[in-house]
Amino acid sequence: MRQVWAEVNLQALKENYYKLQTYTQSEMMPIVKADAYGHGAIPVVETLMSCGAKRFGVAILEEALELKASFPELDVMVIGAPESDQWEDFVKEDIIPSIFHLSQARALSEAAVKFNRRARLHLKIDTGMGRIGFRDTDISEIMKVAALPNLFIEGIFTHFATSDQKDLTFARQQLKRFQLLYEKLKGAGLKIPIRHAANTAAILQFPEAHFEFVRPGIGMYGLVPSSQVGGNVGLEPVMSWKAKVSHVKIIKTGETVSYGRTFQAAYPTTVATIPLGYADGLRRALSNCGEMLVHGRRSTIIGRVCMDQTMLEVTKIQGVKVGDVVTILGKDGYEQITATEMAEWLGTISYEVVCGISKRVPRIYLDPIGNNQ
Ligand SMILES: *Cc1c(COP(=O)(O)O)cnc(C)c1O
Repeated sequence: MRQVWAEVNLQALKENYYKLQTYTQSEMMPIVKADAYGHGAIPVVETLMSCGAKRFGVAILEEALELKASFPELDVMVIGAPESDQWEDFVKEDIIPSIFHLSQARALSEAAVKFNRRARLHLKIDTGMGRIGFRDTDISEIMKVAALPNLFIEGIFTHFATSDQKDLTFARQQLKRFQLLYEKLKGAGLKIPIRHAANTAAILQFPEAHFEFVRPGIGMYGLVPSSQVGGNVGLEPVMSWKAKVSHVKIIKTGETVSYGRTFQAAYPTTVATIPLGYADGLRRALSNCGEMLVHGRRSTIIGRVCMDQTMLEVTKIQGVKVGDVVTILGKDGYEQITATEMAEWLGTISYEVVCGISKRVPRIYLDPIGNNQ
C-alpha cells in the first residue's frame, strides 16, 4: 500500500451527527457532495443511514447516480443546478432536482409525462445568496410550475450567505423573504410540505430557520463552519492525513532544498522527505510555511512543495527515520493540526482543504469501534 493515506473515523462521524441533531428537532438531510467533502460518499452515507438519516443532498446528478447505484431505495436530492440533458435520469431514478426556472420545470414535466411518472422537485429560492434560485418575488412564475402535469412540488428551500457570522442581520432578512414567499404561495393555493434553509452554521445558531429539514455538511465532518461559529460544540475531525518518511539526511550550512533553492540551511539541518505533494492535495502555497507532526512535535515544511514529495526540517526532533509516520492532518500525542488550521495558513476555509485531498490518497475507514477495517 501507498505510504500516504487518509484515515476516516466513522465513529467520529456518528458522534458529530448525533451532536448536531441535539441542536434541532428537524429532520437532518446530510450533505454529501464532493464525495462527502473528500471523506468518501458511500461509507459516509452507509454510516449516516445507520444513524437514522433517510435522505441525502449532493451537488450534481452524477453524485446522486453513484449513491443510487449502491443504495437504490435512498432518497437523494441534487441541491445544485440541474443540467439541460439530465431530466430523464432525474425521473427514471426518482432523484429530486432543484428547480429555479420555468423552462426547467417544463422539461422535467415532459420527461415525467413520457415515462408516466410523477417527478418530485424542490424549488430553489434566491433570497440573497445571489447564486441560483427563483427570486423571492417570482410568484406567478412559480404558480406556472405548479400547473404543469406530472410534477410534485415536495419542497422549497433557500441558502444563507452569512449564517456563519455572529451578526445574523442579513440572514434574518433572507429568512423573512423566504417566509413571505412561502405564505404568498400558500395563499395562492400552493401548499409545499417541506421547507429547508439551514446549513451547519444555521443549525448551530439560527433555530428560527430550521423548518422541516436541515442540511448539515461541514459540522458532520467535525470541522467548524467559521471562526465565529461552532467552536464550543465539541466536534471531532473525522479525517486524518498521514504519510511515512521516505528519506532522512543532514545537510550542511549553505546547502539548499527543492526547486528554486528557496530554503538554504543556516546551520547543519536534518531533512526528512515525505512522499506526498501538491498532486495529493498538499497545496504548494505551504512551501516554507506549513507544518506537520513528527513524533508528536511540529516540524516545518522547507523548500517548495513538489508534485509528489515534500521536505520537513526535523533537526530538533531526535531519531527520525525512514518509515516513521508523519501527521499532515490529525493528532499525534498532545499536538493536533486541523483542516481549519491548515486553511488559515493558506488563507482559505477548511472545506477547501478536505475537498482538495486528491483521489490518489487512499482512504482507510476506521469502523465504529476504531478498529481497522
Ligand atoms: C454545501 C451546502 C450545504 C452544507 O453547508 P455546510 O456549511 O457544509 O453545513 C447546505 N446547503 C447547500 C445549498 C449547500 O450548497
